[in-house]
Amino acid sequence: MAASKRDYYEVLGVAKSADADEIKRAYRKLAMKHHPDRAEGNKGDAESKFKEAAEAYEILGDPQKRQRYDQYGHAGVGGQHDFQHMDVEDIASMFGDLFGAAFGGGGGRRGHPGGAQRGYDLETQVELTLEEVANGSQKTIEFDREDLCGECRGSGAKPGSAPVACPTCGGQGRVAQQGFGGMFRMVTACPSCRGAGRVVRDPCGACRGSGRKRKKHVVEVHIPAGAREGQSVVLGGEGEPGANGGPAGDLHATIVIEQHELFQRHNNDLVCQIPISFTQAALGAKVDVPTLFGKEEMDVPAGTQHGEVFKIRGKGLPDIRSQRKGDQLVQVLIEVPRKLTDKQKHLLREFAGMDDVSASPQRKSFLDKIKEKLTGESKS
Ligand SMILES: [Zn+2]
Ligand SMILES: [Zn+2]
Repeated sequence: MAASKRDYYEVLGVAKSADADEIKRAYRKLAMKHHPDRAEGNKGDAESKFKEAAEAYEILGDPQKRQRYDQYGHAGVGGQHDFQHMDVEDIASMFGDLFGAAFGGGGGRRGHPGGAQRGYDLETQVELTLEEVANGSQKTIEFDREDLCGECRGSGAKPGSAPVACPTCGGQGRVAQQGFGGMFRMVTACPSCRGAGRVVRDPCGACRGSGRKRKKHVVEVHIPAGAREGQSVVLGGEGEPGANGGPAGDLHATIVIEQHELFQRHNNDLVCQIPISFTQAALGAKVDVPTLFGKEEMDVPAGTQHGEVFKIRGKGLPDIRSQRKGDQLVQVLIEVPRKLTDKQKHLLREFAGMDDVSASPQRKSFLDKIKEKLTGESKS
């Protein structure tokens, strides 16, 4: 599915640098052109284009979603509304403010008192280990959600009864008030039913008339390899149910990455430290290094210094977009033995006696400089 998706900027025909206004105008133009009621020619084709444009606009028209898309591509904004399977009318009403009365004979349903309203989005966290980030993972998320009450099916009325039309507004959800001196009429949400148009006479015992009940939910979500801390995966329709038949909100699962005992993450690279002995550092050695993908043998060249960093290519984390792997950076820490045998001590003293000749060029020049300084001072 993700692979066949077109780039959203391409869909709307705007540059990546386009500002919010340009994006809005571009979407409006496309939606007008491809709305099945207006389009000429192939209706099915127009409908599909209309939906594709809506999908692109849902992301690019929202600064936060747009930023995620810019950073991570389609993977960063997965699980949005499935526009291809939505009703054209519902889509038009989602973005109703953009079109005014252009479609559907006078205004979308959104925002009207008592009309269909989208449910709230929910947020939760999903914890990943670095191993799961490296390989991608299937996670089970548990969360609480205010669902429609099963007893009254969300009406809030005792089973067997039903909400009745609100007597204050006659079921309209709105009341008109005469303004100053009868000069104008003001329409506001009805105070008795708060715009719903219906009131519950006999409340449902299970939800005390609210029509909602908190329930535990479990969903499975696929987290792509290379996911980053703070990024969120959006599960469309897993948020709270909408009001008056409106669509459910979304669930945003924000990624939290557990600390690893060996590795630290730097973008797509992994950094670790390994101890080596000073003889290994001086003489060179092959050492085993742990990676997220198993053990690797690494060459420590003779003359390695404390704190030096070596790179093992391709053993880092995959990039979430390209899936190209980063590297593992290995910093070596030279350990000096705390205890020595007499023989070792003897050998080291002997080594120390020859130290002048075996010193590295850098070291030599450093010593030379000190000597020069000392002799210079003694001359003066
Ligand atoms: Zn109920
Ligand atoms: Zn009312």
